[in-house]
Amino acid sequence: MEFFPPKTPAGEALLAQRLERFRALDPAFCSITYGAGGSTREKTLEWARRLRNEYGFETMCHLTCVGHSREELRSLLEGLWADAIENIIALRGDPPRGQENWQPHPEGLRHAVELVRLARSVAPFGIAVAGFPEGHPESPTEQEDLRYLKEKVDAGADVVITQLFFDNTDFFHYVNAARAVGVSVPIVPGIMPFRTGAQLEKFTTVYARTRNGPARIPEKLRKRLQGIASDEDAARLGIAYAIEQCEELLDRGVPGIHFYCLNESDAVDAILQSLRSSHRLA
Ligand code: FAD
Repeated sequence: MEFFPPKTPAGEALLAQRLERFRALDPAFCSITYGAGGSTREKTLEWARRLRNEYGFETMCHLTCVGHSREELRSLLEGLWADAIENIIALRGDPPRGQENWQPHPEGLRHAVELVRLARSVAPFGIAVAGFPEGHPESPTEQEDLRYLKEKVDAGADVVITQLFFDNTDFFHYVNAARAVGVSVPIVPGIMPFRTGAQLEKFTTVYARTRNGPARIPEKLRKRLQGIASDEDAARLGIAYAIEQCEELLDRGVPGIHFYCLNESDAVDAILQSLRSSHRLA
């Protein structure tokens, strides 16, 4: 279950309330994202500690190379380990808003693989890295994407968590291609139950862009969206569609599912209830 650090006291109170509900869903782990601009970073660390200490979740902290020197990252990693946060997802991060191309900090790290190596040198973290079933927007070819994925795994990543996608075919293709280049660690699919058509468009065009432009919304989903008149119906479709995706993924043996929860508990609650009632999840 992935959350982001809320920006307002009201958002914080709401997340705290929802985490009680998430606890009942018994997730294998919870993760908290790391903001691009710097403003939410202290909050990320604070929420990572809360997830671990207040709620008792196995916690994974997102960490990016953006705006940090190597020594700052080392000290962040040491702090996490001292706070018993034993899992990280090691990311490069996107350029901060207003900056078009990725530029590392002058004394920083250029690629996620370097953060994996740094983390490995600090403590025996559980380390996840990002994978992109439809291709990272800056990677000109699939082979290049996979080469660097393999490099991250060879550097010590234990698991790959994927960008969100809406066509399972893209995920299955990616896993096969990754296996073919020798990536043997678990690859966990990232699933986002959308709430509105506008939100789906925003995520596919802004946060989950691919080598070929926006993340793909398959024709079958587009058709179903066309018949939708209200936000309530869109949210229901988001849940139903995510259930269908998860059913197929679980039937084909994925090692788990990473939910982009967006700090909402209702959708994931409904999805898990359905997966548990069809005995796809214990
Ligand atoms: P990298 O692995 O460094 O790859 C970036 C690009 O460089 C790719 O095109 C890759 O092919 C290329 N590349 C990699 N290594 C090399 C190399 N050695 N030489 C040349 N080229 C190379 N962003 C946030 O800001 N905060 C978050 O909390 C966050 N959480 C995320 C969680 C998940 C599960 C995912 C999938 C993404 C997340 N992101 C987050 C987004 C992520 O930071 C961006 O997608 C970023 O553009 C790529 O990060 P990366 O770790 O894959 O980078």
